[in-house]
Amino acid sequence: MIGAIEAGGTKFVLAVADDKRQIVAREKIPTTSPEHVLEETIDFFKQYEIESLGIGSFGPIGVDPARSDYGYIKKTPKVGWSNFPLLLKLKNAFNIPIYWTTDVNVAAYGELQEGRGIGKKNLVYFTIGTGVGAGLILNKQIYTGYNHPEVGHLIMKPVVGDHFTGICPYHESCLEGMASGPAIEKRIGHSAKELTTADNEWQTEAFYLAQACVDVTVMFAPDIIIFGGGVSNQEQLFPKIRSSFLQQLGGYVDTPPVEDYIVHAALGDDAGIVGALLLADKARDSSVSLSYTE
Ligand code: ADP
Ligand code: ZN
Repeated sequence: MIGAIEAGGTKFVLAVADDKRQIVAREKIPTTSPEHVLEETIDFFKQYEIESLGIGSFGPIGVDPARSDYGYIKKTPKVGWSNFPLLLKLKNAFNIPIYWTTDVNVAAYGELQEGRGIGKKNLVYFTIGTGVGAGLILNKQIYTGYNHPEVGHLIMKPVVGDHFTGICPYHESCLEGMASGPAIEKRIGHSAKELTTADNEWQTEAFYLAQACVDVTVMFAPDIIIFGGGVSNQEQLFPKIRSSFLQQLGGYVDTPPVEDYIVHAALGDDAGIVGALLLADKARDSSVSLSYTE
């Protein structure tokens, strides 16, 4: 059996699957104190004979095994979680191979293997929700550098007439600050869920998401750009993103047909757990230890 953890800022989702990756048990626990969450997580997995674990964690996290912050949750506003060595604690509790990466990376991997990215080599997966993040898959592998990429903080050129400067405490007019769910809410004064599909705000939202697509297109030339997260459930966004993308790209490079290039995720909320289980499988089957501290 294998285990998966989607460690979110609001909740942890835990799952155990059999050798065919069929989920046999699943649990959600609210992200309270790290001590409490850890205890419940360990209690849950101790009921099963798991041979490996895949973890996608909220961040920022340390992802480079050569650095001292590897396996840690780094500086975060989540009370008690800054500098918490989550990977090491789990390693000590279970002593099994663990694949450790970000929440958005596991979702990107899920979409690559079993969602809209099937058959693709290179993809970018954006999540547009409480925050904005992106996972990069290059040559079918999750890409990380000395840090995981922070595509959610791409600096945006504001759309003409938008005087809102965003909600990111670090940057003016970054993607997350301008286009996350809470950013829309701040710009319009109420939740994005209450907007009609015809509201002009979707045009503004599409402009920023399209600009992010232009940026990742010129940087990585991926085969596909996939959008997940709550805000992406607004299907009317997609034609708007595609036409704004073509306009902002200015015909400079060829891309696959936009309808196939900028698409809605297929796995919905399951992408994270699906990806984490696939990565747990990979950790177990690999003769070399993939991604855990000794
Ligand atoms: P999380 O990021 O916490 O995992 P979500 O992806 O659902 O969860 O993102 C929550 C944010 O996205 C909130 O700001 C919420 O208002 C917004 N949101 C969620 N679903 C929708 C929707 N269907 N339409 C518009 N906004 C949404
Ligand atoms: Zn920012």
